[in-house]
Order: sequence, then structure tokens, then C-alpha cells
Amino acid sequence: MKTCPICNTVMVDNVELRTNDGMGLCLAEKGLFGSSLGKVACAVCPECGHIETYLTSTDKVKKVTKQVVNNYKTNT
Ligand SMILES: [Zn+2]
Repeated sequence: MKTCPICNTVMVDNVELRTNDGMGLCLAEKGLFGSSLGKVACAVCPECGHIETYLTSTDKVKKVTKQVVNNYKTNT
């Protein structure tokens, strides 16, 4: 259960943020052919309208983060 950081009301959770043409959003690696890092979901406050976005799973982000750290270690 998420609570609004602005007005402390219980937020409506796990709703989807879509583009105007109905497509859902995802976080992706940079570049035209960057792979998806996860589906974006959001929570909205019914009182003030504040919206928070988050990834439904952080598994791919953790994997990419480990690769970046390992590349940094081998290049320094
Ligand atoms: Zn609020």
C-alpha cells in the first residue's frame, strides 16, 4: 500500500500509464534497438492527483547494473 508523499492519502496502486494511442510504457536501454528493462506501472493519489511511476520488476535493471559495474572494474 503506497501513501501519497504530498497529502498522505492512500494511493490507487498498480494502474497503467499509457500513451494517447493506447500503448503501455516500458523503460528501455538507450538507442533505437535498446531492449526493454521492464514494464512501467504507476500509483495515483485520488485526492491531489500526484502520480508515481515504478517498474513492475527490477530484475533486468539489476542485471544491467551488474554488467556496468563489472565493465567499470575491468576497464580501470
Ligand atoms: Zn495526494
